[in-house]
Parts: sequence; C-alpha cells; structure tokens
Amino acid sequence: MPNDSHSARVAQDKKTTPTAPAGPEGQDAAWAIAVDVGGSKIAAALVSSSGCLRHQRREPTSASSEPQAVIHQICQMVDAIASAAAEETREILGVGIGIAGMTDSERGITLLASNLGWKNVPVRRLVADQVEHPVFVDSDTNVAALGEQAFGAGRDSDNFLYVNIGTGIGASMVLDGRLYRGAGGVAGEFGHLALKPGGPQCGCGLRGCLEALASGRAIARRATEAIADRRPTKIQELAEGKQEDVTAALVGEAAQLGDPLALEILSDAGRYIGIGLAICTDLLNPERILLAGGVTGAKELLLKPMRAAMAEHTLPRPLRTVTVVPSGLGDVGYLIGAAALVFREERPQTT
Ligand SMILES: [Zn+2]
Repeated sequence: MPNDSHSARVAQDKKTTPTAPAGPEGQDAAWAIAVDVGGSKIAAALVSSSGCLRHQRREPTSASSEPQAVIHQICQMVDAIASAAAEETREILGVGIGIAGMTDSERGITLLASNLGWKNVPVRRLVADQVEHPVFVDSDTNVAALGEQAFGAGRDSDNFLYVNIGTGIGASMVLDGRLYRGAGGVAGEFGHLALKPGGPQCGCGLRGCLEALASGRAIARRATEAIADRRPTKIQELAEGKQEDVTAALVGEAAQLGDPLALEILSDAGRYIGIGLAICTDLLNPERILLAGGVTGAKELLLKPMRAAMAEHTLPRPLRTVTVVPSGLGDVGYLIGAAALVFREERPQTT
C-alpha cells in the first residue's frame, strides 16, 4: 500500500467480512441474546462470547410511532430466541440491545432516535419488565465499535474510531482500549461537527453540520435541489423523473457513469468527511479509523477526495500513524457488539 507522508493510508476497496468468526459449536461457555434495532428492521440472534451466531431473526420494524409497539416486538423476538436456547440447554447471561439513536447506556434510555421517532424512551426498563434476563442498552454505533473491537477490524487496536456514513453520520471511539462515552454518555456525535457555518439545515436543528453536508440524506437532497435548478444530469433519468426516488445510491450510480453533477456531489461529500476525520485525528491521534455505512459504497469516488482532504488538513505526526480501513464485520457487528455489552458485565456461574 502506498504510504507517502502526504496521504492518509486508506485501504482500497477491501471486501468486508459479512460474518463473524464462528466459535466451536457446543464449546461456548457464555451466550447472550443480541438485538439490533433500526428504523427499518430489527435483527436478533443468540450470540456466544466467541462470536458464534445462532437462531438469527430479522423483521421489519413496527411502523407504529408508539415506542411500546417496537418494545413489544423486541421482547417477542427475545422470547423466541430464549425458547430456542432453552431447548439447547444453553444458559443466557443477558440481553444486549443496540439502538439506532443517541442512547444513555448507564440509564438505559434512548434520548433521541429520529428514524424511530423516539425521544427519552426508557428502553432498558421497558424490556426488563417483560424478559427475565438482565438487559443492557447502547447506541448502534457504540455496539458496532464493541463488535469490531472483539472480532473485527479493531481487534488488535487500543485506539480506533468507528465511523458510520449512511443515511446519517455517527461515530464511536475506543480510546486506551475502552469505549469512550463522555460525561453525559453521548460522545461521538461526529455527524454534528460544524463544518460549514450557515450551511444547510441539519436534522439536529443546527446548520452546517457534517451530516447536513455528507450523509446519504444530504447527498440525495443536493441532487434533488440541483435537478430543481435544471442542472443537466443522468440522476434524473435514473430516477425516471421521480424526485422521491433520488437517493445517494442513485447519485453513486450516476457518478459511475461519469455524470459531472453526481461526481461533484460525491467529491464534496468526501472532502467534508475528510476534513471531519482530520479534526478527529488531530484531536485523538487514533491508530485506526474504521469506515462503515452505505455511503462508503461509492468507494474511490468518495474515498479519494476524502483522503486528499484528510491529508491536507491533518498535522503530519498524527497523520503518519493513522490508517483508514473498512470495518471488518458489516451488519453482523451490531449483533456481536450488542452481545459484548452483556459479556462485559455478566459472568457465567461456575459450579
Ligand atoms: Zn447536526
């Protein structure tokens, strides 16, 4: 891999590993039920402390705006997996839940989850009322970082950032080997770094946040605005004229076809992400930055300008020691990390 002092080292298009390394069946001492709650789907599985997954389930998230409906769905999935585990006489230490939203892990409360329409939902208490195991809750980016630390691209690193660039933008930090949560439990709001004062409105209410400039939602919005301004582009053709069908993925598709507008949008997004990573690198001096999320599917069209901006804006010393790599586990990392929430706190009973 090229490693000149002026460019951040970014692994090029390395395939992510979609499954965790499976532990030896039947020899796993500890098991937890892991749940990954997103705005569109809920995944759950029985997960061993050696990263073995069994009884995986996946359902669309209840469309009800009432948190109770989703909580009920989570508990039903947990019950089904607990029954399967009981049949196999596997002891369950607890239930770990990752939520797509800002979550206070200590109190077990999801403070804000815009994709779920939640505000201040006491997830841990609501689930614990209905299941018989200890319950642990954290944000999805935090559990993903724990998963990467246990079995993924963060396995042999004590200082890494996990950055997810999808519909929204989030990050988690493992510093000196431990997940860093901050004073109020909400550290890692990478998406709300103010990179363009007075810039586009962000979902958080502020203006010019990275998320408003480079997330999947922001990329789609910029394309829609350019089409409304009658800028010539293949994006409109690919969306068959339907404004609501303009997505970041479609912008990526148009960019692959050489569409100048799409290339410009991805390049700008990559540049802003690179500046954000430069700030984090100067501040935290991480060894590794793990990139995940749908927007990174645009690959070099986004990563090249990202690397260039990162190299331009990071101090030489922290830049020399940081490597940007794809996350190792993909979606399964959320389940492994949610189980890790349990394994950190609960120990199997020894006789
Ligand atoms: Zn914001």
